[in-house]
Amino acid sequence: MFPIKIIKRGYKDMLNILYPRLCLSCDEVLHEDEKEICHQCLSSLQLSRFDYTQNNPVYNRLSAIVNIERATALFLFDKAGVIQKLIHKLKYENHPEIGAFFAKTSIKYLQENRFFNDVDYIIPVPLHPKKQRQRGYNQMSVFGENLGNYFSVPYTEKILLRQIYTESQTQKNALERRDNVRQAFDVVGAELCAGKHFVIIDDVITTGATIEACVETILKKIPQAKVSVLALAVVL
Ligand SMILES: [Zn+2]
Repeated sequence: MFPIKIIKRGYKDMLNILYPRLCLSCDEVLHEDEKEICHQCLSSLQLSRFDYTQNNPVYNRLSAIVNIERATALFLFDKAGVIQKLIHKLKYENHPEIGAFFAKTSIKYLQENRFFNDVDYIIPVPLHPKKQRQRGYNQMSVFGENLGNYFSVPYTEKILLRQIYTESQTQKNALERRDNVRQAFDVVGAELCAGKHFVIIDDVITTGATIEACVETILKKIPQAKVSVLALAVVL
């Protein structure tokens, strides 16, 4: 008689042949000791290792244009790199589980930096409902929910809303982007949120125009609100 361990092992091998686990970045078949992405892709991800408080490029860029408490990005954006592929798949190829990978990868760093100390809500940069229906989810939701569960901070998409449908921003220059997003957001239930500290989560920070509009909306509509920003990656 086969020991149960061997049967289990055989079953696992068979599953692997029928449904091989693929690297979320390069699509190569994963080895048994590799989790979501392969060792090679993992080693080429560039962690930012920023201190969240002062004098990091994200904080400096955003605090020059808007009033924020903390700001950081987890990775340095590389246009042809693993981070670009992961974020692209997360946004456009129906891979919400990449959000869980990002959350898992960043917990230690965020804990060491006490990023979620005194934070009341985690909110994503909202998508217009039409866009969210097309995509099926907000690309930051799994990331936000997982961090929220870990740090005991509620994640919500019900406070900051996007009321204007904006075209893709990628073809526009900084000034056009800014005009485009300035009026796009609104807050629901402002009085109930008075004095709360929000962490806005976003995928990639470039000029910071979208974040600026989100932060401005919250600070304008919610009395004594505080806002921090956490991005997956930053374009330096
Ligand atoms: Zn890979």
